[in-house]
Amino acid sequence: MNIFSKESVYYRLKIEMKIRFVTAFHLGSGMEGEAGSDNGIMTDPNNMPFLPGSSIKGIFRSTVERLVSALRMEKIWACGLQNGLYSTKSCIGGGVAKENKTYHEANKQYQESNGDDISLIEQNCCSVCQLFGSPLTAGRLYIDDAFINNAEDFVLSKRDGVGINRDSGTSMDSVKYDYDVANTGLKYAISMEAQEVTEQEMGLIALGILEWKHAGIRIGGKTTRGLGHAVIEDISVSHIDLSRVDERKAYLLKGEMKRENNVDEFFQEKIDKIIA
Ligand SMILES: [Zn+2]
Repeated sequence: MNIFSKESVYYRLKIEMKIRFVTAFHLGSGMEGEAGSDNGIMTDPNNMPFLPGSSIKGIFRSTVERLVSALRMEKIWACGLQNGLYSTKSCIGGGVAKENKTYHEANKQYQESNGDDISLIEQNCCSVCQLFGSPLTAGRLYIDDAFINNAEDFVLSKRDGVGINRDSGTSMDSVKYDYDVANTGLKYAISMEAQEVTEQEMGLIALGILEWKHAGIRIGGKTTRGLGHAVIEDISVSHIDLSRVDERKAYLLKGEMKRENNVDEFFQEKIDKIIA
């Protein structure tokens, strides 16, 4: 995509924050656990629990989708690709039928222009699919894997679970299983970068970040049993305006970005721009 061919102004945004678990958590590995349980947790090469960037991005996307659909804005909308929930309009980024004509036309336009012409995608893709990605296009928001900050505090333990019959909601005594959990108090740093985003997309990101800040986040499995609750602390934001030569130069030559002093104010201002 040639970002300077369009009239919109684009930004690059980097957000860093610390997260701290206020409960134990279980981010399942799908394999047997180190503590001898049936369900282990995801671990890094040092055998420490870690949070894959893709998992964090999925949680962030869900948060933004939920808020976008709750706010019922005119031009900004979410199809709910991730949750399959909100089908107010049909988005070609999400679950369209294979024979959908618009999907094929948009895809053809994109391929034949080598990614330069995305007008059909922009017209027919929801705001969330455009920012986070869909089967049609790659997203422009990246989140790194998060590794533990206080490895010395890590304690692995095993919990018993009871199988629940999903239809009746009752427990099935015959199905007993156990799973590993990482303890409360573990800390991580999350780093996300949004590339070539519009002012409007910064508003979407701001919505999600402020929601995380106020409500915390739920990570991993068994969250309905009180696991996986984390709080967000120390958010920092830096950005560059790609239409400004001085900012672009400083970034390309020295990796410099403008750091915001008042993060809350910055996010509030972006939100005000999308919510009239
Ligand atoms: Zn969509």
